Amino acid sequence: MFKSLDLNENEKSNSVPAGEAEKVKCLIIGSGPAGYTAAIYAARANLNPVMYEGLQPGGQLTTTTEVENFPGYPSGITGPEMMEDLKKQAERFGTDVRFGYATKVDFSGETHKVWIGGKKLIEAETVILATGATAKYLGLPDEQKYAGGGVSACATCDGFFYRGKDVAVVGGGDTAAEEAMYLAGLAKKVYLIVRRDELRASKVMAERVMKTPNVEILWKHQTKGLTGDGVVEGAILWKNKGEADEEEVTIKIDGFFLAIGHKPNSDFVAEYLDTDEVGYIKTVPGTSKTNVPGVFACGDVQDSHYRQAVTAAGSGCMAAIDAERYLSEKNS
Ligand code: NAP
Repeated sequence: MFKSLDLNENEKSNSVPAGEAEKVKCLIIGSGPAGYTAAIYAARANLNPVMYEGLQPGGQLTTTTEVENFPGYPSGITGPEMMEDLKKQAERFGTDVRFGYATKVDFSGETHKVWIGGKKLIEAETVILATGATAKYLGLPDEQKYAGGGVSACATCDGFFYRGKDVAVVGGGDTAAEEAMYLAGLAKKVYLIVRRDELRASKVMAERVMKTPNVEILWKHQTKGLTGDGVVEGAILWKNKGEADEEEVTIKIDGFFLAIGHKPNSDFVAEYLDTDEVGYIKTVPGTSKTNVPGVFACGDVQDSHYRQAVTAAGSGCMAAIDAERYLSEKNS
């Protein structure tokens, strides 16, 4: 999914002499459903958007298989195909889609400076940040081995494929509780693998998940590895790891869901933008406006709550409209 970055591609993509900043009206950073939707709207509003796709063109959805909950696709569509369609739609209206990723910004002046690949400088009147978030994984080699074969970090995206089956969710926070309850409505049995003897989730969520009959909480368990012939068929866990009564436990599962948190991809703007303690960019409620005029945020980089393709797309639309209105007010 990750392409290696050819900086020369960036240099070839416009006619600005080397060393000079390229000036753009609207720069979109990131290319998931939020970024592409922002691009479609910005291009149709004559903002001549330039988009840098980031290290994972198409974003998180390119790592999922079928997307069945995005309105407008009655038979479903694969994540990569949907992203390809969105890209074509953005390009159809004139978005200049480029491969490259932003490494540094300077939002202290009236025009916003963004460095691409640590080298090329863009000066943008408006910047739309759609850099998404990255699900955290445990770091086990088996998570890679079974990627697309039963390992997922999104129950809402992939839970449907486990109807009537047994699955495990790792984590003890609100996301894990929510995902376990969502999966409990589809799967036969859900194991919730919690590394401590209590949940981090809010009281109400914790009580709800503990009362769900087909959820079994495995307290003080950690994952050692996964088993299966090509697809996940089981997990090997440690119970009471590091204690005198440590033991190995195996469970039979068809799906292994990570819910140990997400990391918003906002480090490169953190010096200038207000974020919450995790790094989600703060926006003015009901808008995509950040604390810096002319800089807007949409999609998962500013949404710790819904994190759906369709909500990301909606917020991308908002960001493009906010950018267009900002420019017309500024230039009126
Ligand atoms: P979180 O609150 O940071 O919880 C992460 C959970 O994963 C914790 O239980 C943590 O265990 C566990 N964990 C982390 N690393 C682990 C590892 N290597 N191995 C095993 N377990 C590990 O993350 P979140 O649940 O995604 O929630 C993020 C934020 O969104 C929170 O503020 C949450 O309240 C909010 N949220 C709200 C809702 C809602 O209101 N409906 C829904 C989802 C999320 P420890 O507890 O031992 O650290």
